[in-house]
Amino acid sequence: MRPPCRPLPADGRFLQAIAPTPLVPVRLDPEGPTIWCKLEFLNPSGSTKDRIARYMLEKAWRLGELQPGGEVVEASSGSTSIALALASAQMGVRFTAVMPEGVTDERVLTIRAYGGDVVLVPRAEGVRGAIAKAEQIARERKAFAPRQFENPDNAEAHRVWTGQEILSQIPGGLVHGVVSGVGTGGTVVGLYQAFAEAGCPVTAFIARPIAGLGCDIECCSFSPRVPGVVDGMSKLYRDSDMPGRVELDVSDEEAMCTARALIRRGFPVGPSSGLNYVAAVEASRRLGPGAQVVTVFPDRMERYFSTELIQHRPAPPRVVA
Ligand code: PMP
Repeated sequence: MRPPCRPLPADGRFLQAIAPTPLVPVRLDPEGPTIWCKLEFLNPSGSTKDRIARYMLEKAWRLGELQPGGEVVEASSGSTSIALALASAQMGVRFTAVMPEGVTDERVLTIRAYGGDVVLVPRAEGVRGAIAKAEQIARERKAFAPRQFENPDNAEAHRVWTGQEILSQIPGGLVHGVVSGVGTGGTVVGLYQAFAEAGCPVTAFIARPIAGLGCDIECCSFSPRVPGVVDGMSKLYRDSDMPGRVELDVSDEEAMCTARALIRRGFPVGPSSGLNYVAAVEASRRLGPGAQVVTVFPDRMERYFSTELIQHRPAPPRVVA
């Protein structure tokens, strides 16, 4: 039997409201289309994952699966761990992130800044090793495991929240194309459902970063240069129903260059925003003039300070005689 629905803690620390993030029209190429971009990097912990972290923990709290003084454990080296660390701190529960060795210092330090613990598994064990370790910790400590790759509340957060914001922000409430890379698939599945249920004639476009380099991370046949976007991990995505969805391959180099161009336009984003923007331009070209195409800028550039996004060496300036 389900435990009784419990009220949320009313002490003001709990998951402060996340204001609607702006939806802005962006055109990098003066000849190219305008893309509607949702600035999700403006969420409190710096990514769109604040929404799913809040939504999944709130649900678990109400159902009594997460108790006062309890613990949350998740296998994620990405933005979800950072967002869960903040949401857990706000709820006054403990948080442990499990991830493979080799993740950037920025990520580990950000989780620790929010009071979370980080458990590292050997790099060779990869994402699967991290998931197995997180399951073990959850069992042993009776911790709540959100399991973002299979938790329907992940997509649900975007369906009832991010998607409704976009519908109220975009002219005429009309979306023809929604574009995103897939990590868990929560973003694209939830947004697609929101737009389809609102009666929009919407097509989902899945951005796939294709590696110019090899990939040494287990479970990932996509480019490691675009963290957060992986291939074949997500049950949520595999089980989803998005008729007519289109997969678009994007060179990882173009994704990186576009992210840098966006940064210099005033959008301090990470690589997956570049990926999404490039794919959205192609989606717009395929849908034709007048189509309103939406994409998401998922996270912030500060998360990539030690990576080639920022550390690359631009070509030296040309010598002018
Ligand atoms: N970009 C970044 C930076 C991410 O961390 C993620 C999620 N891991 C995604 C894109 C993909 O989003 P989703 O998990 O909703 O498919």
